[in-house]
Amino acid sequence: MELQTPPQPPAPAQEARGRPLSHLALETIWYSQRISRADLSRRLEVSRSTASELVSDLLATKLVAEVGDGPSRGGRRPILLEFQDDEHVILGVDMGATHVAVALTNLRGRVLSWREEAHPVRADPDGTRALIARLGDACLADVPGASTALLGIGVAVPAPVDHRDPKRLSPTVLPAWEGRSGFDSLEARYGVPLLVDNDANLGAVAERWWGAGRGIEHFTYIKLATGIGAGLMVGGEVYRGATNAAGEIGHVSIDPKGEPCVCGNRGCLVTFVGGEALVRRARAALVEDPEGPRSLLAGCAITPGLIEEAAMDRDPLAMRVVRDAAHHLGVAIAGLLNLLNPGAVILGGSMARLGDDLLIPLRETVVRRTLVSSVAASEIRVSELGPRGIAIGASTLVLAAALERPSLFPAMRG
Ligand SMILES: [Zn+2]
Repeated sequence: MELQTPPQPPAPAQEARGRPLSHLALETIWYSQRISRADLSRRLEVSRSTASELVSDLLATKLVAEVGDGPSRGGRRPILLEFQDDEHVILGVDMGATHVAVALTNLRGRVLSWREEAHPVRADPDGTRALIARLGDACLADVPGASTALLGIGVAVPAPVDHRDPKRLSPTVLPAWEGRSGFDSLEARYGVPLLVDNDANLGAVAERWWGAGRGIEHFTYIKLATGIGAGLMVGGEVYRGATNAAGEIGHVSIDPKGEPCVCGNRGCLVTFVGGEALVRRARAALVEDPEGPRSLLAGCAITPGLIEEAAMDRDPLAMRVVRDAAHHLGVAIAGLLNLLNPGAVILGGSMARLGDDLLIPLRETVVRRTLVSSVAASEIRVSELGPRGIAIGASTLVLAAALERPSLFPAMRG
């Protein structure tokens, strides 16, 4: 089997003394993917006999197995220890404003099954929870043995999440949810831990572990969907701010005389670039633009997805709507670059599929408005994980928690 490129999250916690050696050993083997007992004892700075004892305990958990022969260094060829990525599965849920997507992944972020359905998430909390369960069940049914191997559920929500009390939800963004996720029912149904974080934060986590943010300590991920949010990766960690509300770039005002926004402000970025703004602008353009009647969008029930598809089909009106949005996004990103000086800006969410049609006008605006050179502006790129990124990030939330606290693995308890 060919090994995947190892992810680049925080290195094995050599500095994290005080953690049980068995936990450090498991984490080290996960990061190495394959490692000999000798290398493991060197990495953990323990004797060969201590390493051997740790390994025999880990072999009993089935999270680690012995495989093949490693390269010989003159003597006997060593047996390698391999982390068993398929010993458990994780459900990663992307709860958007207007859709639910669920990814079933293994313990290395590989998507084994995928389900997605449009749903009025903001208006219908009960229906949304039922849909998450239905899509989760369908994903688990796709993979033999998955139901009994489920390790946990990660959920990405389109609202700020209080890190200390993640079961609460911001009532400003999702008023119908009345400030609570109600995910306890899902946790009880599956009998596994359920973890929650903000969707843009999890998009950033996914890019850092498996995508365009690998090896980059400081970057900003921007989710372009119905809502606009940013995940700020600072020194390899998500920066949350004093009250967990950092990254709400969608509500940065770029025009004080602009249209009113749900947040009470005027001219927020989301009123120019969010899904609803794109639809409003396309409708207006169809009426005002002399080319309107010839557009692919004429006579359609316009959705953001339809605008993106028409732009990809080179429809001039749809391309103008996208270009206009890109320029407005550029104004906000220019401010972000001047303020944070990130190593990269990674665009995710459905609009990211527009690629250069989005990036080229956006970079033009950024170069005109920042102190940085055009070279730095080219570090604005689209997600490598595509529309599945946020669900993969939700699964990674559970994986990261289990590597940090291996007692989440049933076989590591007691
Ligand atoms: Zn706003």
